[in-house]
Order: sequence, then C-alpha cells, then structure tokens
Amino acid sequence: MHDRFGPVHIDGRQGEGGGQIVRSSLSLAALLGRPLRVDHIRAKRKKDGLLRQHLTAVKAVAAVCEGRVEGAGLRSTALTLVPGKPRGGTYHFAVGTAGSAVLVCQTVLPVLLAADGPSTVVFEGGTHNPMAPPFGFLERVYLPALAEMGVAATVRFERAGFFPAGGGRFVLEVEPGLPHLPFERVEKEGEAEFEAWAMSANLPGAIGTRELAVVRQAFGIGRDRAHLRRLDSPGPGNAVAIEIRCGGAVERVTAFGAKRLPAEDVAADAVEQARAWVDSACPVGEHLADQLILPLAFAGGSFRCGVWSSHSETHVQVVRAFLGEAALKVSHGADGTVVSAPGQPR
Ligand code: AMP
Repeated sequence: MHDRFGPVHIDGRQGEGGGQIVRSSLSLAALLGRPLRVDHIRAKRKKDGLLRQHLTAVKAVAAVCEGRVEGAGLRSTALTLVPGKPRGGTYHFAVGTAGSAVLVCQTVLPVLLAADGPSTVVFEGGTHNPMAPPFGFLERVYLPALAEMGVAATVRFERAGFFPAGGGRFVLEVEPGLPHLPFERVEKEGEAEFEAWAMSANLPGAIGTRELAVVRQAFGIGRDRAHLRRLDSPGPGNAVAIEIRCGGAVERVTAFGAKRLPAEDVAADAVEQARAWVDSACPVGEHLADQLILPLAFAGGSFRCGVWSSHSETHVQVVRAFLGEAALKVSHGADGTVVSAPGQPR
C-alpha cells in the first residue's frame, strides 16, 4: 500500500535531474503537509545545487506553509522541509537575479490553492527567460488550463525582466481551491488561428517591426492580430511570441533576441516552433505537458501530447512518489502520449 501521509525522500539525480524535481517536490510536500527530503539537487546540471531561482522557490514555499527548512542555501545539494499549514495572505518574493520568477510562481501556486484564504503575491525577477515559461505562457496557456480544472488564479504584468538584468515584476491573485474539475484535452480539431507579439525593451523599434513582418507573412496574420509591444524593463531585451488556437487547444511559442542575432532569425525560430505545433496532431505541446502533470493528478482527466520529454517523465515519477503509482497513467502510442488521472479524493 502506498503511504499517503509519511515523509517523502526524493533523489534529485533521477531522470531530468534538474530544478523541476525540487520545485514540484516542494509544492507537493507543502500542499499535502508531508515532510520532504531532497538529495543530489540538480545533479545533472552543469552548476549543481540550488541557484537563486530555486532558493527563492524554497523560501517562498516555506513562508507560505509556515514550514521549517534545512539546507536553504546557495548551491546547497540537499534540503529538508517540514511543512506547517498553508496560509493565504500578502507575499512578496524576489529572485534577485534574472532567474525565472514565473517558475517561482508555479511552485508556490499549488500551495496557495491549499491555503486557508485568498492571496496576493508580488513576484520579481525574470519574466522572459529561455528555458522557463515566459510570462505570456503563464498568463495565456498555463493558467487558462488550470482554470478549466476549477483553479481561480490571475496574473497582472507590471514590468519585464530579461536576461541578464532581470528586474521584472508581476502580481498573482489566487483563491484557495485545488484543481478539481476533470480536464480533457485529447483531440485537436478546427482551423488554427494565429496571433503574434514582438516585444522589446530599450532597443530600437525597428527590430519588432522586422520580426512581425516575418511572422505575419509565414501564417498570413492580419495587422490587427500582430502586436508591437514596448516593454518597461531595467535592461534591454527582445522576444517574439506566437499564439495558436485550435478548437479548445492553445499553444504559445517564444523565441528570444540576442546580440548579433538578426531580427529575422529570431522570428524564424518562433515560426518554426509554431509550425511544429500546428503540424502535430496533438493538442498539448511539450512544455505544457510537463506543467500539467501535477494539477492533472488532482483534477483528474486526460491530455495528449506529441513530444514526451524527460521533464514530463520525471515529473510523473515525482508526483507518483507523493500520490502513488495509480495517480497517473501514461500510454505511449503512434499518435502521441496520453496522460490520464483518476483525480484525488477531496
Ligand atoms: P527545469 O529545467 O527543471 O528547471 O524546468 C524548466 C521548466 O520550464 C519546465 O517545466 C519546462 O517545460 C519549462 N519551459 C522551458 N521552456 C519553456 C517554454 N519555451 N515555454 C513554456 N515553458 C517552458
């Protein structure tokens, strides 16, 4: 029988061996009220141990659940958390570098859903990071999927944080209530509809104009669905986002500008990512897939994705360590991978 109440020990070397194992373990331990030990933190990353972003997530979770933590230091490779009760309230968490504030938000959000009241949380740090969900993905892809599961959470953008300056800021408003409505996203049907954004901070406006020209031409996007945005930010930065809707499915891909990288190449990168999703028969993209695994385990339901990443595989193992083998079912087939869950008793 799976122990649903005792301490959980997670080996940070397993599978992907990155930050997600740590963040998800923290979320689950705090929301379920189970003591946690994580060893070999981020053992498969070049710089192992807790970096600023992960450390901010550890401290944020501990603050929200009034928990006791050991090992909450920079580059720490082992930590323990003895959680208390999650409390709603007003919080402020700042990464202090350009590390992703969106990932910190995704870590504390599940805990706040188990809290005794609503919360308002200010997050500061990176909002537009490669290798993490950009703010637009959080707002327009991840949270709407959670809303379908009955989660009441909204975000308000205030300032952009790009690498290396950081300094982005947004506010999360959340009502308690774990994911509980069965989620279904197995089929992808209907015409694809596109919308695009070229976002720049402290850079010449022509960059965004050139990017939008490439993206509009690739997908025949009208002027009214192609937006040039100047973002307030402490440093320079540029990103192109393309959002695609197909029936009830939505994906948002992002490509980032870099020094000496022509604007046309940034746009072409976004176009290529968007095409991959459009051409796939599956409604859930690679990144949304790994991020939906935790909430789906609570809500119940199923989704189908085309790319099964090691992030997704590892996330399934982490969730099962807390909720038991039967919490998630994964079936790989010729037409993608279906993840399904019976949901958790409330
Ligand atoms: P880790 O590498 O373990 O710190 O986890 C990174 C997280 O960021 C995973 O949940 C990824 O799916 C997510 N992620 C990375 N790139 C993107 C992207 N372009 N859009 C959305 N999510 C992303």
